[in-house]
Amino acid sequence: MAKYDFDLFVIGAGSGGVRASRVAANYGARVAVCEESRVGGTCVIRGCIPKKLLVYGAHYGEDFADALAYGWSAAGPRFDWGTLISNKDKEIDRLNRVYIGLLRDAGVQLVQGRAVLRDAHTVVVGDRAYGAETILIATGARPVRPSLPGIEHSITSDEAFHLADLPRRVVIVGGGYIACEFAGIFNGLGAHTTQLYRGTQILRGFDDDVRTFLCREMRRHGVDIRLDHDVRRIERTAAGVELTLLDGSQIACDAIMFATGRAPNTKGLGLEAVGVALDAKGAVAVDAWSRTSVPNIYAVGDVTNRINLTPVALNEGLCFAETLYGPTPRQMDHANVPSAVFSNPSVATVGLTEAAARRALGAIDIYKSTFRPLRHTLTGRDSFVLLKLVVDATSQRVVGAHMVGPEAAETIQGIAIAVKLGATKAQFDATVGIHPTAAEEFVTMRTKFVEPEARAAE
Ligand code: NDP
Repeated sequence: MAKYDFDLFVIGAGSGGVRASRVAANYGARVAVCEESRVGGTCVIRGCIPKKLLVYGAHYGEDFADALAYGWSAAGPRFDWGTLISNKDKEIDRLNRVYIGLLRDAGVQLVQGRAVLRDAHTVVVGDRAYGAETILIATGARPVRPSLPGIEHSITSDEAFHLADLPRRVVIVGGGYIACEFAGIFNGLGAHTTQLYRGTQILRGFDDDVRTFLCREMRRHGVDIRLDHDVRRIERTAAGVELTLLDGSQIACDAIMFATGRAPNTKGLGLEAVGVALDAKGAVAVDAWSRTSVPNIYAVGDVTNRINLTPVALNEGLCFAETLYGPTPRQMDHANVPSAVFSNPSVATVGLTEAAARRALGAIDIYKSTFRPLRHTLTGRDSFVLLKLVVDATSQRVVGAHMVGPEAAETIQGIAIAVKLGATKAQFDATVGIHPTAAEEFVTMRTKFVEPEARAAE
């Protein structure tokens, strides 16, 4: 008789947990996955997917306006928030059922409830205890808000997906992925949108040209971005909410959303009691095999706070399952992971920023291009695209590619393959462009960018 109820007990049925469960089960492991909320996790239930649906929804306002220049006319378009939210909810329900079906078809037992570790081989859910040879922590992360007076009058992205009405005036706090994406959503749907960021430029960590360019473009699209601004307190009023900022100024709005980062879900799981070490930020500390300080306990995804993206969690989950239950041990390669911000316009990037490349490599070549996309030559819309390549001057390898503009994510996904393979600038140049596209500029930029001061000194 088997020593434990399961070979693998996974805590958390999000992207990483579901992938690991299915792959392990397909290799013949006896697997259970425990979920206290809805199967699918952040990505499917309250992240990437519903967010992208709202991003699509938000684009139509501009698209209707742009269509006039192409000869189309229609009676004044009207937007109904309730329709968008209920259609989005139907799709999320469908995906939730698909995920449950995938687990069932793989023979994974779904345990509904909150899991707590009793010891290194026992997980308790409600009044039942399950024994497992191996345990995988895949509990994700949750939004965090600063503790300010009146913070209870604010929302996070979790609640933004379920607002009863579209706020007429909304304030978004933060300058990261989620803040920029929701600023684009609310602004595109017609809300008067203010974005407050405490630093000097949004999207810290991204290439500086990208940051400046995106900020300017978002402002052109109508978002009131206020840099070097932060909230001191929030009060509820008869008309909505009133914010007092650090400089004493006030903003009246209908909703305030904090997108001020996410924290790993490690509390109340019994991790400390069984000796699973956490890092300084409270994330589960793991090695390159996703193994924690307890040899039979592993962790993948946002709970480990490595690169907090769904495809990374999926790959970490896959590598974990392949290593333990498949024929070939595999480690996730966290280098050159591309990512996108679905702001308006969108941003996508792979590899090093100009500043990081300069620090790591010393001599680098920069190629960049900004232009108005063909589509807007007719609409006259003041909307521009930025493309940038960062090249190692010695090896001539392209070490970074950055884009701001429509379909940036679709474009950079392909470029990421070339960067991952170590393609050189000459190989980019030898690739024939697809005309007319914005992406073709990635293979037609021939002139190195020279800082204006350097050019003046030549
Ligand atoms: P980020 O860490 O990206 O951004 C948090 C923002 O909030 C930063 O601008 C930060 O400022 C600011 N901030 C933090 N604390 C405070 C505070 N106390 N007061 C005021 N401002 C504060 O977090 P997000 O919540 O946007 O996203 C979390 C993660 O989820 C991302 O890092 C990403 O990995 C992932 N994600 C990915 C998406 C995608 O792939 N498209 C979409 C959404 C999320 P500062 O810069 O000064 O620290």
